Amino acid sequence: MDKSRPSVDENTPFYFPNNKMDQDIERSLRAKVIQHVVVSIARNNRVYTPRFLASIKSLYGEAEAAHLEIKGLIPDSKMEQYRVVCREGCSHCCGLTVNVAIPELYLIFEYLRSTRSEEELKELAQDLKAYVTAMEESNSVTEKLKIKCSFLKGDKCSIYEQRPMSCRAWNSRSVSHCIEYLEDQEVDIPSSALHYTPYNVFRQGIQRALSVMGFEDIVEELNSGILRLLEGEYGT
Ligand code: SF4
Repeated sequence: MDKSRPSVDENTPFYFPNNKMDQDIERSLRAKVIQHVVVSIARNNRVYTPRFLASIKSLYGEAEAAHLEIKGLIPDSKMEQYRVVCREGCSHCCGLTVNVAIPELYLIFEYLRSTRSEEELKELAQDLKAYVTAMEESNSVTEKLKIKCSFLKGDKCSIYEQRPMSCRAWNSRSVSHCIEYLEDQEVDIPSSALHYTPYNVFRQGIQRALSVMGFEDIVEELNSGILRLLEGEYGT
C-alpha cells in the first residue's frame, strides 16, 4: 500500500458516509478542483520552469483552504467521526511508500536546496542511498514497512512545510490499527474523508493536468526520486 492509495473499508467513514449532502459536497469539490488545477497548470504550461512550479506550489495553500472550507460545512454533531489521531511524533505511516508526481518532486528538491547547506545535502544523499539499498534488499512488505522515509528525523517530518500531497491526505482515526497494519497488511486503517479528500483531489488534479497537457502521468517514489535529482545536481 502506498500513501496515495489507502485501503477503504465500506464500514468506516472514509469517504463522506451515507449522507447525500456530504456526497454532493465531495462530488462538486472533486469536479471543481480538477477543472481548476487543469486550467491553472495549463496556463503555465512549460513544465518545471519556476513559474510552473510556483503554480503547483500555490495549490498546497488552496488544498489547505479547501480542507478548512469543508470542515466548516460539517455540523458539530457529526465532527466526531472525522476526528483523526495523527500528531507530531507519531510516524507509524512513514514506512509506507510515498509516490509523488514529478512536479512535486521538483518542489521538494527546490525546498531542500533553499533550506539545506551543501554539506547537509550530501548527508541527505547518503541517507537516501541507504534507504534505497535497504528497500532493494528487503524481501517482504512487512520488512519494507519498517524502513522509514529518509525525511523522518527524530519522529518528525523534516520537510513538513513541503511534504507531498499524499502525506497531507493520509490520516488515521486509530493508532492501534496503524501499528497492527505494520505486521498484518490485511488490517484496514480507518481514515477521515475530511482530511483525505481535499488533498487527494488536488493530487489527482495535478496528475490529470499533466496528462491533459500531454505529459506522461508518471509518479516516482519520493526517496529514490530526490536521490536521483541530488545525484544529477551534485554528483554525490
Ligand atoms: S515526507 Fe514526511 S510525512 Fe511523508 S513519509 Fe516522509 S517523513 Fe513521513
